[in-house]
Amino acid sequence: MAVLYVVATPIGNLEDISPRGLRILQEVGLIAAEDTRHTRKLLQRYQIETRLIAYHEHNKLARLDTILLALANGDDVALVSDAGTPAISDPGYELVGAVIGAGFAVVPIPGPSAVITGLSASGLPTDRFYYLGFPPRRSKERIALFSEVVDIPATLVVYEAPHRICDCLADALSVLGDRPAAVARELTKLHEQFVRGTLSDLVAHFNTTEPRGEFVLMIGGATRPAKRKPTSSTTNELGVIVEEAPADVDWNLIRAELQRLRAEGWTGTKAAKQLAKQYELDRHQVYSEWSNLPE
Ligand code: SAM
Repeated sequence: MAVLYVVATPIGNLEDISPRGLRILQEVGLIAAEDTRHTRKLLQRYQIETRLIAYHEHNKLARLDTILLALANGDDVALVSDAGTPAISDPGYELVGAVIGAGFAVVPIPGPSAVITGLSASGLPTDRFYYLGFPPRRSKERIALFSEVVDIPATLVVYEAPHRICDCLADALSVLGDRPAAVARELTKLHEQFVRGTLSDLVAHFNTTEPRGEFVLMIGGATRPAKRKPTSSTTNELGVIVEEAPADVDWNLIRAELQRLRAEGWTGTKAAKQLAKQYELDRHQVYSEWSNLPE
């Protein structure tokens, strides 16, 4: 049975494509590409001459029949986007759904995606993350989006255009507070750069440095009510004493923050004082985490 391959392609550096991805692009009967001129550069680099058709935001419904017909005729098809993994803030998921619905197999060929590439070197917690795609262009709607996720205890990830990154950072700061954050710029390219700090540090940085290139913005998740309140107790109607548990602290986040400050050259005393204040924690407890950080 014919297969639709969903093939990840480089997000900058053309070496970032797997041998399997190249073999699939060579072997399929047809490549459906977001921008055929863009994909042709990748194919030329690897001397691949497979037939290309355009599959983008504006013709994706019309193209569906062409692709289903190719599959029905027994031709395997590869779907690629301009950069990274198709269907991740790129066209593709409707096609994948339709191909599954028509009874054909869909096989992913993994590779780069800016969200994972950025997260992996951000220094922020990666055990849980919440991907928001591109935030809305208008400030009012962006603020509404950040308000929706203000309590989520997972690293937030957004894609943003260079001319909107300053406004987006300012809105994030106003809704989420001064959380740890990182911007990954031009990943895998000549001018790759990570800017790490708190949201206010990033606002200050991009207010004085013109943002250029492609950006992934990552923001630390909500910390649960952080202060360790003394355990309190009440007596219920049956006369039973009910202990109220102290609130949880996200110590993974605190440790990640301590590591970041240590890498920036802070002393333990100063870092403990800063984080204790920021997250309303006991300074001595934060310092003891500092003392136990791995080398
Ligand atoms: N499908 C792609 C993926 O898997 O990452 C995302 C496509 S989306 C239309 C393009 C956005 O991804 C850019 O505007 C930028 O926010 C982000 N992006 C793509 N390549 C990047 C790179 N090399 N460095 C930083 N961000 C990048």
